[in-house]
Amino acid sequence: MNDQLARLNRLPLRTNLRGLTPYGAPQLDVPILLNVNENTHGVPADVQAAIAAAVTEAAVGLNRYPDREFTELREALAEYLGHGLDAANIWAANGSNEVLQQILQAFGGPGRKVLGFPPTYSMYPLLASGTDTEYIVGQRAEGYGLSAESAALQVKELQPNIVFLCSPNNPTGTGLGLDVVEAVYAAGEASNTIVIVDEAYHEFAHDGTPSALTLLPGRERLIVSRTMSKAFALAGARIGYMAAAAEVTDALRLVRLPYHLSAITQAAALAALQHRTALMADVQDIKEQRDRIVTELTRMGLKPAASDSNYVFFGGLDSPHEVWQQLLDAGVLIRDVGIPGHLRVTAGTERETTAFLTALEGILASQAKLPA
Ligand SMILES: *Cc1c(COP(=O)(O)O)cnc(C)c1O
Repeated sequence: MNDQLARLNRLPLRTNLRGLTPYGAPQLDVPILLNVNENTHGVPADVQAAIAAAVTEAAVGLNRYPDREFTELREALAEYLGHGLDAANIWAANGSNEVLQQILQAFGGPGRKVLGFPPTYSMYPLLASGTDTEYIVGQRAEGYGLSAESAALQVKELQPNIVFLCSPNNPTGTGLGLDVVEAVYAAGEASNTIVIVDEAYHEFAHDGTPSALTLLPGRERLIVSRTMSKAFALAGARIGYMAAAAEVTDALRLVRLPYHLSAITQAAALAALQHRTALMADVQDIKEQRDRIVTELTRMGLKPAASDSNYVFFGGLDSPHEVWQQLLDAGVLIRDVGIPGHLRVTAGTERETTAFLTALEGILASQAKLPA
């Protein structure tokens, strides 16, 4: 045991936190960063200017606490989402991670359980332990699919208080059919289960892919979570949000810290929402790079999963960690998600995507492991 861990364990840490390590995707200084699904196109110039102006204006009033209800932002988010939603249906926090944490604080906690279906977002079990909610591991089919029948059966059997459905799923990139959401919701009727659909990447889905937002009417236990970290290129601003029945937002008001969303955060989010045209053009470009990665990896004999996100999960590698390291040596950081034979890469700009594809092809050739 290293010294720091030994010292940590002398503290009166909660039992369920002992031995845990913090979330830690490597933050390395590498020219091409395609490891945490950021929007690498950056913030468009007009959005930068609008945010700077809005923040300057907000700075005037920073001696006062911000609007605790961030009403203007909730109205703008409702307008962005559409689907007949209004401000009463919307809640936001410092990243969707904080929204998810608040949901667990309100509906999870000691003696309660949350069901997830790995491989899925690595934050779910950490959010569970942070709120002392038991994390139960659901089963997927071979190839990581999740059918409506299987998911519903598991919810019926396990009776979790909360279910995480991630669509498109991180790290696999593949979307869930709305039939899965409907079946899970219905299966959670007896256990009064809260169903969270994490749509962090919805804007990158292929045209015509329906959102779980369409299922909200009449389903008061359903929550659809979104973020401005990915499509809106605002990972650094920390703004996530959710849409649900108005009583769900009331539940989150019970656990949020007062004034949790700073005036600067509210101003930045509003400015970005008002200037989203250029952002959405970049999303379109990212989708093209994503499709290009799938095509090119297939040509190289690898096995990319179908992706409705801004990243591609691909298999067919004999030694993924070695390939990951060699890409890093070539100045391209992607993600080793610890799944045998697989890696995950974020779709970058055309130039970054080309650098990744070229480096990868070189590595595969030098390994002489290009499948026939
Ligand atoms: C990136 C990501 C998020 C976003 O988290 P933020 O806290 O909003 O930055 C949420 N869910 C999944 C599955 C993600 O991959």
